[in-house]
Amino acid sequence: RAKLDGRGSLQHFRQHFHDELVRQHRLVERLERAIVNRELHLHYQPQVSVVSGRIENLEALLRWTPLEGEPVSPAEFIPLAERSGLIHQLGDWVMEEACRQQAAWRAAGRVDSRVDINLSGRQVLAPDTLERLEACVARHGLRPQDIGIELTENVLIEADAGILERLRYLYHRGVRIAIDDFGTGYSSLSYLKHFPVTALKIDRAFVRDAPEQPEDRAIMEATIFIGHRLGLEVVAEGVETAEQLALLREMRCDLVQGYLFHPPMPAEDIDRLLVGPGVGHH
Ligand code: C2E
Ligand code: MG
Ligand code: MG
Ligand code: MG
Repeated sequence: RAKLDGRGSLQHFRQHFHDELVRQHRLVERLERAIVNRELHLHYQPQVSVVSGRIENLEALLRWTPLEGEPVSPAEFIPLAERSGLIHQLGDWVMEEACRQQAAWRAAGRVDSRVDINLSGRQVLAPDTLERLEACVARHGLRPQDIGIELTENVLIEADAGILERLRYLYHRGVRIAIDDFGTGYSSLSYLKHFPVTALKIDRAFVRDAPEQPEDRAIMEATIFIGHRLGLEVVAEGVETAEQLALLREMRCDLVQGYLFHPPMPAEDIDRLLVGPGVGHH
């Protein structure tokens, strides 16, 4: 960490800060060209039923591999895209591609699993995003129940009446609405009472530490309990070990997602998985 006690280190800090801004700026410029250059693609990660072992949902996760250079993590470029406003173009690309792929899966008669699309704050809060999603679903001949969206609790809290009404409309038509990273925001639980939600996703930080930390285990169990009492489906993300799975099974979590089952993978690999001998039994 930079110590700011001498002129030399303050200078150093400024330099570092400046370099970081330049780097981010360049990244945004490259990201602007990513769509036309066809540098983006989607991976899909299965969410598996704890009871039946069946794949019920596929979460679409955006991948960016620049023509020159290494892949960049969405954890890095999504926040940048949010700040620069590029998120709208990227988000539209994701919607289009996810719906196209889901329609192809449907046409091939292969999948009865839903595709879940992540929507970030600025995207959902923009007045026309949800209309465009609906139009996209219809354009590809999909039913509302063929897709889902993942939002964070903060987004719901910030949503105005218009956005909430739009979400409610999608909810009633059958679009799955999941709260991503549940328990990591600053919201009160009362929003669950008013907002159109169908599923809670337990953040992977809780799942990771649950076997060792009684507090994380308690939060995990409480989330599953309250989710079920409210009639919601509960999904655990980041499940990596048999021990975590055993806890989740004991607590009657509905769906699990993580490296223990499947990593995010290209659509072709999903095809192979779905024609194969089943999803494996843990
Ligand atoms: P998220 O929606 O919470 O996605 C879960 C993240 O956990 C993904 O990271 C996934 O690859 C990773 N993961 C899955 N299983 C495991 C596991 O067993 N262990 C560990 N350690 N990690 C696991 P990824 O793909 O890097 O995405 C990071 C975040 O970027 C996502 O978090 C989401 O918030 C955002 N994101 C990704 N794609 C999109 C997109 O198309 N649109 C928007 N708005 N955000 C996206
Ligand atoms: Mg997600
Ligand atoms: Mg998540
Ligand atoms: Mg998460």
